[in-house]
Amino acid sequence: MPELPEVETVRRGLEPAMLGARIRKVELRRADIRFPFPNRFAERLKGRQIVALTRRAKYLLFGLDSGEALIAHLGMSGSFRVDAAKAIIPGAFHHERSKDPKHDHVVFELDNGNVVTYNDPRRFGFMDLVRNEALATYPRLCALGDEPLAPEFDADRLAMLSAGSRAPLKAVLLDQKRIAGLGNIYVCEALFRARLSPSNPASILSNARGGPTRAAVALAQAIREVLEQAIEAGGSTLRDHRQADGALGYFQHSFSVYDREGSACPRARCGGTIARISQSGRSTFYCPVCQK
Ligand SMILES: [Zn+2]
Repeated sequence: MPELPEVETVRRGLEPAMLGARIRKVELRRADIRFPFPNRFAERLKGRQIVALTRRAKYLLFGLDSGEALIAHLGMSGSFRVDAAKAIIPGAFHHERSKDPKHDHVVFELDNGNVVTYNDPRRFGFMDLVRNEALATYPRLCALGDEPLAPEFDADRLAMLSAGSRAPLKAVLLDQKRIAGLGNIYVCEALFRARLSPSNPASILSNARGGPTRAAVALAQAIREVLEQAIEAGGSTLRDHRQADGALGYFQHSFSVYDREGSACPRARCGGTIARISQSGRSTFYCPVCQK
């Protein structure tokens, strides 16, 4: 499933192809994906200019000159493809994206000559169209916690979000109401980077006064670094593929612990072996030697 860095990579790939362009035509090839498309979806998009392309957690938000926003979520297997007038800009995914045209569900034709196609074999993604002023109360967005890449997300904030919690660190980091969009992969990677065991109680992040501990400082920095590096890797893949004349592909992230059970810990001189445990039904990968 596309994780936050991949959604951000998609946003950055779509931006040069779509921002400022007018939608000439929208073709819907089915009545629903995960949910039915909103009423008169194609008609409401036709002729509209795309004036902003932002992201909140794993939701893409296309701001329109009508005062509405198109909300798109990629679900488990959604992806966008740009058939560009000048260059091809594929979306970059950890999992291979579908190239099968029978899963092309929505086609946007833009006045700059670009054609943007939404493909989703498993159809867990969705699109909706809402007034800008309704975004703040939109059910799927208003309950979301902090954006982990926002400048104000730091050790103080992390301490505040976890203060008094007896839940394991990993569960708190995966709680979308506290921190939005940080999935299983990047939680495992951030805990490894911060040298923290996923089984620690979240209370280790705050001191008696509710302020951040050293663990919180290390973890806040680790979260930002793992996300930014993954986005950077996606960005370089976009550039490479553009140069490779539009050959569609995906990139394999290099993870330190995720999905590496039984491998040697990549930390120099650690000597540990990556272990896998189950926490609230999800696999956690970590090094029992250097993560305390
Ligand atoms: Zn280790």
